[in-house]
Amino acid sequence: MTKTVIIGANHAGIAAANTLLDNFKDQEVVLIDRNTNLSYLGCGTALWVGRQIDGYEGLFYTNKEAFEAKGAKILMETSVDRVDFEGKKVYGVTKDGEKVEESYDKLVLATGSRPISPNVPGRDLEGIHFLKLFQEGQAVDREISKDSVKTVAVIGAGYIGVEIAEAAKRRGKNVLLFDAAGRSLPSYYDTWFTDDMDKNLADHGIDLHFGELVREYKGTNRVEAVVSDAGEYPVDMVINAIGFGPNAELGKDHLELFANGAYLVDRHQQTSDPAVYAVGDCATIYSNALQKTTYIALASNAVRTGIVAGYNIGGTPVESEGVQGSNGISIFGLNLVSTGLSVEAAEKNGLKVKYTDHEALQRPAFMEDNAKVKIRIVYEEDSRRIVGAQLSSTEDISMGIHMFSLAIAKGVTIDELKLLDLFFLPHFNEPYNYITMAALKAE
Ligand SMILES: Cc1cc2nc3c(=O)[nH]c(=O)nc-3n(C[C@H](O)[C@H](O)[C@H](O)COP(=O)(O)OP(=O)(O)OC[C@H]3O[C@@H](n4cnc5c(N)ncnc54)[C@H](O)[C@@H]3O)c2cc1C
Repeated sequence: MTKTVIIGANHAGIAAANTLLDNFKDQEVVLIDRNTNLSYLGCGTALWVGRQIDGYEGLFYTNKEAFEAKGAKILMETSVDRVDFEGKKVYGVTKDGEKVEESYDKLVLATGSRPISPNVPGRDLEGIHFLKLFQEGQAVDREISKDSVKTVAVIGAGYIGVEIAEAAKRRGKNVLLFDAAGRSLPSYYDTWFTDDMDKNLADHGIDLHFGELVREYKGTNRVEAVVSDAGEYPVDMVINAIGFGPNAELGKDHLELFANGAYLVDRHQQTSDPAVYAVGDCATIYSNALQKTTYIALASNAVRTGIVAGYNIGGTPVESEGVQGSNGISIFGLNLVSTGLSVEAAEKNGLKVKYTDHEALQRPAFMEDNAKVKIRIVYEEDSRRIVGAQLSSTEDISMGIHMFSLAIAKGVTIDELKLLDLFFLPHFNEPYNYITMAALKAE
């Protein structure tokens, strides 16, 4: 029997545990998490707060009992405060103050990430929220339900900030969306796409404050105003969404770390200590677009890395395929999907790239049900390998991005894409498919 202790029972820890329990007989699995709940899909918070779905109940996909039924031991509301890596022991404390001790053969660190708090005066005032845990989603929903909360400031126009800004607007609030960058979604999309998103947000009544750095939250007990370098704005509530950092407290003095403090792992999810694996938001990941190790906090990556760790611990060697950071966002009916690097992100990372754009209808013009699609393919200048793609439409164009994800993973060049066999049927696309057209237009 191999005993594996998994610290953190959310997406990454759950995937590792299920892989071990479902595929290997000789595994003793102990899961430990400090929270009251597990498997909460934070991606659904904005849908629920914005009342696009009926409630939060469907946002959990497993529970404590499911693991117990598989023979695992699961300790909820138990915080691990120390790991003795030499003696292979984990020490924690339950919510009642009872001490817990577990020895391990293998340890999986799946401690995730935590939201970054803007380092400005007034950040501890009441009415200032984060949006990570289920409990934080509940708190935001409770506040937004109050008539006294009329104006909501969202700090950070990444995908979480933009989604919660939409949700607050759907609930009838005045919404101010701040970002130090000059536009929304700057990490994943070029301006050709975000100009449309910014217009979409403004057209739906969201008050955009881009290129403004928030300097202070003002108030006596409760937040009453947000001060940026451009002005002071009265608000009733603030939602911080400026990003996440890895939660790598437990192993930071023992394990090798990445520049941002995440646990550095290899393609087997193994850390610098062979008995210790790290998965999900607390660990690094290999980017096929950059061809180097990086940090991308996404649930999709958390699940995959958990599976990889599970197989390797169980005894079936599996190497991670690396990732492209594929992502999507759907706001007031405008859909953006991307994979790999935008032109801006590639240049920031020192890659010399070119790009090719095309804009067309989804279907032949004779089809009534139709919409415009924009596509940009980014490729490396010398090697001509595809390193990124972005698509937007009011149509569901999401499936197209998966092909680009595979293209990046496999090092496909822009030239190999030009005459790729893409089917044509008027119900779905044009004979001169926009993917083909964009590729053919490449220099
Ligand atoms: C609002 C929101 C929307 C999102 N939308 C998307 C989306 O659409 N698509 C997508 O791919 N990703 C999305 N994400 C990101 C995604 O939620 C994270 O990437 C994912 O949760 C990472 O999973 P994880 O298991 O690695 O870490 P976490 O979810 O952070 O879980 C870590 C777990 O470890 C536990 N823990 C930590 N320290 C200890 C300790 N010392 N002792 C015991 N337990 C501990 C915590 O309680 C927690 O349960 C979203 C995130 C948010 C906040």
